[in-house]
Amino acid sequence: MAEPKEAQEPTAKPLPTAVPVLPIRGQVIFPSMMIPLFVGREKSVRALKEAAEKERYILLLTQRSVDVDEPNPEDLYDIGTLCQAVQMLNLPDGTIRVVVQGFERMRVERYLETDPYYLVQAEIIPEIEESSVEVEALMRIGLARFEKCINLGKTIPPEALENAKTLDSPGRLADLIAGYLNLRTEDKQQVLEIGDAKLRLERMLLELSHEIEVLEIEKRINARVKKELEDTQKEFYLRERLKAIQQELGEADERMMEFDELRKSIQAAGMPKEVEEKALKELDRLEKMPAASPEVVVVRTYLDWLLSMPWSVRTEERLDIAEAEKVLHEDHYGLKKVKERILEYLAVRKLNPAAKGTILCFVGPPGVGKTSMGKSIARATGRKFVRISLGGVRDEGEIRGHRRTYVGALPGRIIQGMKTAGSHNPVFMMDEVDKIGLDFRGDPAAALLEVLDPEQNNAFSDHYLEVPFDLSEVMFIATGNLLDPVPPALKDRMEVIEFPGYIEEEKLKIAQLFLVPKQLKEHGLDPKAVVFTEQGLRALIRNYTREAGVRNLEREVAAICRKVAKSVAQGIRKRARITPRTLHRYLGPVRFRYGVAEQKDEVGVATGLGWTQTGGDILQVEVTLMKGRGNLTLTGQLGDVMQESAKAAFSYARSRAGELGIDEDFYRRTDVHVHVPAGQIPKDGPSAGITIGTALVSALSRQPVRKDVAMTGEITLRGRVLPVGGIKEKVLAAHRAGIRTVLMPRDNEKDLEEIPGNVREELQFHFLDDMAQVLPLALAKSCPPGNRNRTKPKEQEPAAGPS
Ligand code: ADP
Repeated sequence: MAEPKEAQEPTAKPLPTAVPVLPIRGQVIFPSMMIPLFVGREKSVRALKEAAEKERYILLLTQRSVDVDEPNPEDLYDIGTLCQAVQMLNLPDGTIRVVVQGFERMRVERYLETDPYYLVQAEIIPEIEESSVEVEALMRIGLARFEKCINLGKTIPPEALENAKTLDSPGRLADLIAGYLNLRTEDKQQVLEIGDAKLRLERMLLELSHEIEVLEIEKRINARVKKELEDTQKEFYLRERLKAIQQELGEADERMMEFDELRKSIQAAGMPKEVEEKALKELDRLEKMPAASPEVVVVRTYLDWLLSMPWSVRTEERLDIAEAEKVLHEDHYGLKKVKERILEYLAVRKLNPAAKGTILCFVGPPGVGKTSMGKSIARATGRKFVRISLGGVRDEGEIRGHRRTYVGALPGRIIQGMKTAGSHNPVFMMDEVDKIGLDFRGDPAAALLEVLDPEQNNAFSDHYLEVPFDLSEVMFIATGNLLDPVPPALKDRMEVIEFPGYIEEEKLKIAQLFLVPKQLKEHGLDPKAVVFTEQGLRALIRNYTREAGVRNLEREVAAICRKVAKSVAQGIRKRARITPRTLHRYLGPVRFRYGVAEQKDEVGVATGLGWTQTGGDILQVEVTLMKGRGNLTLTGQLGDVMQESAKAAFSYARSRAGELGIDEDFYRRTDVHVHVPAGQIPKDGPSAGITIGTALVSALSRQPVRKDVAMTGEITLRGRVLPVGGIKEKVLAAHRAGIRTVLMPRDNEKDLEEIPGNVREELQFHFLDDMAQVLPLALAKSCPPGNRNRTKPKEQEPAAGPS
């Protein structure tokens, strides 16, 4: 048994027996502990002050209950720790911060004073310690457990362990440990009250074991909590993701709705089965794509195209020929032949709808009413009208589309046109078929052939659309300015209708009946207030336009209307009369001059008639003779054919010199220069043959040519006169120029039918077989071997001199 022994004096100062009491709540101070306290209760402050005045000893007694603010002696445990206030600090709020150092256990004997603070008489509880192997073992176990506690995460300052290791007293060790363990206040008090160091240490070992157990559990719990926390975090993260996904899913809902709508539209579009299947397949593909995929747009666009095609939309077709005739007449003046051909074509379609028939092709110069005729056909047959231009198309893809694999691919012009038409059976006009080209990107004409071929076009395949589109109900009309450049294979498919171009009379009528009323209406002008006189319109046609059609004429009429409208709107004038004199006020100076007959009969100048795209005109052929050796010079931008024609005339004159009353050897001494003004306008064709011949003979025979005679006709070496084209335009030009007599090949007699009656009546015509017939008619003084040939009995003998 270990001898109980007195605890060592902690300080040199004599331990008091009467000490002031400092009640504390919720904690127990052990000897050897040094801790700071905040003291605010009045009694306590007094006690502290009292202590401060003495040896600064103070007895710390723990309250039995923390709830009591002003504890009575019975509220305090009897055993406490005698401490010394090693540091005191008066705080401004009247409280004191005090650091106390514990020394000894003390038991209260009795309360000496209770006011103004508790002063007790107390005695030191002596420490009973023994040193034995068992105690040593207990101490080791204690230290080990204490260390374990620290290792298990108990928050104890590391120096506490170091401190503990230096201790050789089991009591102190027990106290130190007790100070750091989180025991309940009662338990701590119990420990404090155990005077036997070994017992106290044993108790502490138990407490340590318990603590370890708790710590281990705590650790497990912590681990679990941590995991749980991680799990929560994970869950949070997942939830967030889920939210995002759900948002996506929300969008997906929208998308789903969109897809549903698309599906419904596809099913309602009246597509052929095959197309519908294709569309649904694409839709499936679209549904499976991530919303952000660039492919989405491609597929969407494609589906939109499929949906916008008029798969089953068609207009009710009318095929009433009488009605159609009425419409064509309503919209167009003249064009008799054209209208007839169109009506025949419609009649055939009516009688035999199964025969897909040929494709119409309108050929003619610009502005002659090809497009507007197409529109009329559409109106007459109750079809829609759509127009595309093939001008400059070099790439098959433009007709047939580009495959979807190309970026920005689109269907070709045919399918685009069909979409615009919005119906299955429109009148589909393809302008400028004569301007399609061919290059390395394939042959657009070949693609066009497929479009136009009734055998194939019920399943026209566009590279973009990929599904066949039925074009068999479409009425195609091709248009072009010239027929020659149209690829032959295409030409074969088409029924060509030529639009000849208008003569002045027709233009006048078109202007009076259509263009002027239309423009007045468009400009909001009163037809009574604005009068285009006939002479005004004629001057407009002659001097301000030069064209086969009426496009510029319409434009000029519109220009006048604009100017009139402006002055009407400004209140400058109320009415306007368009006459040849007022024209320049609106349109400025005269723009074109047409040829007029010569003022007098001249030697070496003959009047010919030329034809151009924009109509006919007269042209003067001049011949001069110079000294020389029979050279022939030709000027005036004459084309090859015209030059040859001139040479033929020259040879004719030489070979027939005798008959013609020309010096047979003229070529030995004479050079001949033939010039055809205007010099900068290229001219070609054989039709000036007899004119050149006449001018030559006139020059060589010194006989003037009649100024009022104009002629056209090809000449052969033997002097035969061959037929030429453009008679209508030429005759009208002659009439306009003030010519009285027109000489033309006999074979062209039939062409006079097209000439308006009044013009025909004002002119004399002579029809020729041979050059020999020309000269007596054309030369002012009759030429010896001339044979007058009057072809039309009703026509008068031309006057011998100028009339
Ligand atoms: P194209 O297609 O041959 O180039 P358009 O059809 O565009 O010519 O005709 C040009 C203008 O002339 C249109 O306003 C058209 O109505 C008018 N037009 C042409 N020919 C006639 C005609 N015979 N009768 C009435 N208007 C016509």
